[in-house]
Amino acid sequence: MTSPILPTYARAEVEFEKGEGLWLEARDGKRYLDLGSGIGVNSLGHAHPHLVAALAEQADKLWHVSNLFRIPSAERLAQRLVDASFADTVFFTNSGAEALEAAIKTARKHHAVNGHPERFRIITFEGAFHGRTLATIAAGGQQKYLDGFGPKVDGFDQVPFGDWDALAAAITPETGALLIEPVQGEGGIRPVPPADLRRLRQIADDNGLLLLLDEVQCGTGRTGKLFAHEWAGIQPDIVAIAKGIGGGFPLGAMLATAEAAKGMTLGTHGTTFGGNPLATTVGNAVLDVILAPGFLEDVQRRAGLLRQRLAELKDSHPDVIEEVRGEGLMLGLKLRVPNGDFVKRALDHQLVLIAAGDNVVRLLPALTIDENEIATAFDGLDAVAASFKAQDVAEQA
Ligand SMILES: *Cc1c(COP(=O)(O)O)cnc(C)c1O
Repeated sequence: MTSPILPTYARAEVEFEKGEGLWLEARDGKRYLDLGSGIGVNSLGHAHPHLVAALAEQADKLWHVSNLFRIPSAERLAQRLVDASFADTVFFTNSGAEALEAAIKTARKHHAVNGHPERFRIITFEGAFHGRTLATIAAGGQQKYLDGFGPKVDGFDQVPFGDWDALAAAITPETGALLIEPVQGEGGIRPVPPADLRRLRQIADDNGLLLLLDEVQCGTGRTGKLFAHEWAGIQPDIVAIAKGIGGGFPLGAMLATAEAAKGMTLGTHGTTFGGNPLATTVGNAVLDVILAPGFLEDVQRRAGLLRQRLAELKDSHPDVIEEVRGEGLMLGLKLRVPNGDFVKRALDHQLVLIAAGDNVVRLLPALTIDENEIATAFDGLDAVAASFKAQDVAEQA
């Protein structure tokens, strides 16, 4: 089917018309269990009543004013993020890439106002994904996203994930920061062990570097803590979030310490839409749910159940599933069969999954997934795995 939309995505021929909780309904009336949540975006499921009410009420009052005026919902959301984190200050954006751009600019400006404008380089890690703007494709370093788009934005040096010697060798007098996802998402659901995050913090301190974390996918409750880095007990300097914080409404943010953000003074950065009343009202509604007492503990409990079922699945289909990985409700199945094929067959079984790098399929269900939905997910995945007959597995290997 042809479409007037720029063909940069291979889209499945399914048209979803409505959603409720973990369930999506297609135009033909078929119901699908959504284990992808729009790539970790619908953090509280579809049409969560509290989010719908907050959005509808705000829509009746005021959609947008510019950042030339005070926006109470934005100030409130920023204060709540500050109160719940390492940060002193927040800059709102509409997307993850813009939150990363803000983080990169803030890090460079920090060193510039400290008298070291030469310290603009940032070390990133292989398998990273930080967005699709010119700077963030350079930060992510993946050739397939850089090809044909002209000179790579300067200032990013990439080292292999977990190679400490390479990291030490990459730090030069021009290095100003380290940037890493506490759990790599697009790269294949690869968590950075907490001890390694602590070691990165130490290396940053020893070398006068800022530690930037990309929590666009792993933040906002996804791992069972508000921020994934909390599992390591570290204090980063700057964190980018997006995806889950808007619950489906485009919203991102850069969180920073006052020290890291000291160069970001009047007029140094801006955005037309970022932090507008509609977006930040929804962001507050998302936090109402996620920060309610016991919610994140429930996420941890649900994550434990789902992970246990996935481990069972791996045990019963060792020729299809090689490994279960991830943190909280950010889980991946590393496959022995092509992940794209697995995702396609899952859709035929009315399960929505998302492929990731390293031949992984991702499960990023709404944080509200219940035991029945976990059981449905297990049965569906079991059927999908079983559909790969021994013969297919042998052929595809
Ligand atoms: C999705 C993602 C981004 C980019 O976010 P956009 O909203 O698509 O710009 C950046 N970093 C990570 C880790 C992501 O998962």
